[in-house]
Amino acid sequence: MKFAMIGAGAMGLRYGILLQEAGNDVTFIDTWQPHIDKIREQGGVYVMRDHKDRHLTKIKLETPETFDGHPDMFIFFTKQMQLQDYLDRCSHFFHEDQYAFTAMNGMGHIEKLQKYFADDKIIGGTALIATVLPGPGEVDFMGKRGAGKMNMCPLNEKPDAMCQALFDELQKAKMNPTLTDDFTGTLMTKVIFNSVINTICTMFELPMGEFGNFKGAYQMGRQLIDEAYDICARADIKLVSSRDEEMAALDHNTRIDMPLHYPSMYQDMIKDRPTEVDYINGYIAELGRKYHYEASTHLFVTQAVHLAEFHRQNLAKQRAIKAKQEAPAAQTA
Ligand code: NAD
Repeated sequence: MKFAMIGAGAMGLRYGILLQEAGNDVTFIDTWQPHIDKIREQGGVYVMRDHKDRHLTKIKLETPETFDGHPDMFIFFTKQMQLQDYLDRCSHFFHEDQYAFTAMNGMGHIEKLQKYFADDKIIGGTALIATVLPGPGEVDFMGKRGAGKMNMCPLNEKPDAMCQALFDELQKAKMNPTLTDDFTGTLMTKVIFNSVINTICTMFELPMGEFGNFKGAYQMGRQLIDEAYDICARADIKLVSSRDEEMAALDHNTRIDMPLHYPSMYQDMIKDRPTEVDYINGYIAELGRKYHYEASTHLFVTQAVHLAEFHRQNLAKQRAIKAKQEAPAAQTA
């Protein structure tokens, strides 16, 4: 198949490179200039797995302004707040026959994609696959080959030949896809999962196992899960797992599967980039408002993550002022 990855960050590179290795024709489209410059200078991307086996992989890289191909499918892996800018810049090469697939975290992206692609051409998904972009031109695939898993479902819940072809290619690429039959339930179940682990571990800058082993973890998680499940019940969203199953999955994921791993939101926090919290806990709280339910814990957690972002920005400003003050002294010494 012919794919164009919209966003060649951590996940765009992981999906795109594995699809390329499975025999597909893949082009990467990105807008972050230091990353683009580094990839061009090196002649590809340095790929690692669990910090080891660093090797150069050649990729086809374009910007929205230089790309003029006609892929069968676009795969969107931007951060939620970057998506609209990418769509605006890429819309000139979108056509009616093409499909859009995404497994971004959070909610809000599907409504944006619907403005450019017909409902029967949109496939959504979720990925339990951890990937890190240590810096421009370099990506680290976390976990052994074939260790992660993902869910996917067409927006109209009627899988067609193209959806099946994508499933087959993802399977060949060892992404372990499962085809589910409830679109919103599939996506919201992952949003709720992230609303506990991603946000709490990020604001306290904790590896997941440290939260999982904390004696108050069950109570903190349960409060967020209960609010989110109450809201989904009012919105008639059928979640893929029950409250108890979601709590068990959180426990297993943090303590057993990935105790040393930091969630992807943490990568944004430590790089002083904005997090996707408004599209995760913030989205759940907004949905609650629509159904006259005040999700006070999700609202509180959303602001707590913003406070942590604000604190880091202030520290960065203070460091910059200090460096400026010390610079003339260093020159005269
Ligand atoms: P990413 O930040 O690595 O890349 C997204 C875009 O941001 C790319 O265009 C990239 O070039 C650009 N970018 C990266 N670092 C930048 C920087 N310092 N300054 C400016 N631009 C920068 O994002 P990702 O981790 O690939 O995530 C894409 C989506 O997938 C998100 O919704 C995320 O929540 C979700 N997701 C991520 C993971 C993961 O482990 N990384 C897992 C599951 C889902």
